[in-house]
Amino acid sequence: MTQAREIKLSQSRLGTMKDCLGKYYYQYIEKPNVKRNTWSTTIFGEIIHEQIDLFLKKYQIEASFKKEVDKIISKSKIKFEQDFLKKHELHFEKIFEETLARYKKEKIKVTFTRKFPTKTFLEFGDKWGPEVLKFIVRYLNINEQFENEKEFSIQIPKEFLSKKTTIKMSGIYDHKREEDIVDFKTTSMPEKYYFVDWDRDIQSLLYYFSFKEESGRYPKSFTYVVFNILDSMFFVVKHDYANTKESIDIMKKNFKQYIDYFLEKHDVSSDNSNWNPEVTRCKFCDYNKICKAKIDK
Ligand code: SF4
Repeated sequence: MTQAREIKLSQSRLGTMKDCLGKYYYQYIEKPNVKRNTWSTTIFGEIIHEQIDLFLKKYQIEASFKKEVDKIISKSKIKFEQDFLKKHELHFEKIFEETLARYKKEKIKVTFTRKFPTKTFLEFGDKWGPEVLKFIVRYLNINEQFENEKEFSIQIPKEFLSKKTTIKMSGIYDHKREEDIVDFKTTSMPEKYYFVDWDRDIQSLLYYFSFKEESGRYPKSFTYVVFNILDSMFFVVKHDYANTKESIDIMKKNFKQYIDYFLEKHDVSSDNSNWNPEVTRCKFCDYNKICKAKIDK
């Protein structure tokens, strides 16, 4: 009798697969020991996420911190001063140093891009951090119950599977409430979020069905809070789910198509004739030194 396999499906796995199946194969299956690289825009987003998470968790568990924050947000002009952030170890530079140390330990090189250079990185972070926190406390009622940075790894129900396979949906809810999901995005490509097709958007579909498996009910809404780092602005894209049988059936059909696509590609990912080389993509790929399918001119 053949054993059921266990495969993980996450938004980032699917995104990597769509970018190049070879990258997916190297990153999640073969895992060769190559020098890896990440970009300053990526770590900027990570630091902002961490800053929000530390802030909200402190607010939930430290009574004195909560008292100080409540006092700040009771004023008509909310301002989180650098001294306040430093006192509570929430300032950008500290989280930046910890993030760099973690990357160093994992032997991942951080490259500062022209659009986001080292010179202005900390300055920009110090300006942004307090603004992000101000936005969060204004937009989310932080006195209500919530969970932050909550990881999930949940078995996909059989109704979505055509093959005998075990797939786990995995990811992290940036911010999860009783009936709502909020995801923070830090991006230099904000246009991706201007018009979200909620019946097909893979991240919200994945989180929608995970929420149902985890909580026994469908969420009422999904929100992207988008921080556009190139134009220094925020915007919010919120969707209220109808949660009717008809709307759920449409989302189920689309989600199943993603799962079929994922499984089909996963199964042929070791064959490099299925990979997707392209000059620029290969130039910036971590695996280009070992990849036989790469194109370099
Ligand atoms: S070098 Fe090119 S073809 Fe090879 S894995 Fe990377 S992106 Fe894909």
